[in-house]
Amino acid sequence: MAAPRSPIARNKSLIATATIFTATAAAAAAVIHSYRARKSQSMAHLHPSLSNGVKKGDSNFAGGTLRCLCSSRPVEVTLGGNVLHNHACGCSKCWKPEGALFAVIAVIPRDQVRVSANCDKLRVVDESAAIQRHACASCGVHMFGRIETDHPFQGLDFVHTELSSQSGWQEPQFAAFVSSIVEQGYDPGKMGEVRSQLRSMGLEPYDALSPPLMDAIAAWTAQKKAKL
Ligand SMILES: [Zn+2]
Ligand SMILES: [Zn+2]
Repeated sequence: MAAPRSPIARNKSLIATATIFTATAAAAAAVIHSYRARKSQSMAHLHPSLSNGVKKGDSNFAGGTLRCLCSSRPVEVTLGGNVLHNHACGCSKCWKPEGALFAVIAVIPRDQVRVSANCDKLRVVDESAAIQRHACASCGVHMFGRIETDHPFQGLDFVHTELSSQSGWQEPQFAAFVSSIVEQGYDPGKMGEVRSQLRSMGLEPYDALSPPLMDAIAAWTAQKKAKL
């Protein structure tokens, strides 16, 4: 029969158990930390403004100023109201910041768009495109896109609110032309992850525009053909 252990021996054993427990917990935390680090490394870089999720806009926001990336004489465009239909876009035509898979682009009535500084630096990217994208000739940023021809979105200009230092702009509502990023060289095997990343932040991924906008285009076309 074993002799009863002294209180000192019992304390030593408790300390040893606590030390093992702490070491095990620290090792587990390290594993979780490295898993999270690996996971965040494997996340696709959608867009800088989406790296911490979608930031809600302010419905009372009254507009602000967009500025190109030039450090001297930046082009400025003043918007006289908040934007509409803001969304992430994977197409190859919208301007994307360095390293981003998606653009974030919105529309606003053209009468609320005014070039307020250094308009001499603006050039149209492609004169033959339906959307005339006016870009800064020095830094390449698209300041606004305008439609001059008969088109369902004529009267609306396309703008990137990330070029503004103000907050309150309408947040992105969905993701458009998602599969287009494959045409630009993105691994098709990783598209499931990209779509779930978009969904996890509330941006439903579509391979064209959102259904309401596709319906609006279809209705415009039907009216042109006197079908509606
Ligand atoms: Zn510029
Ligand atoms: Zn686009």
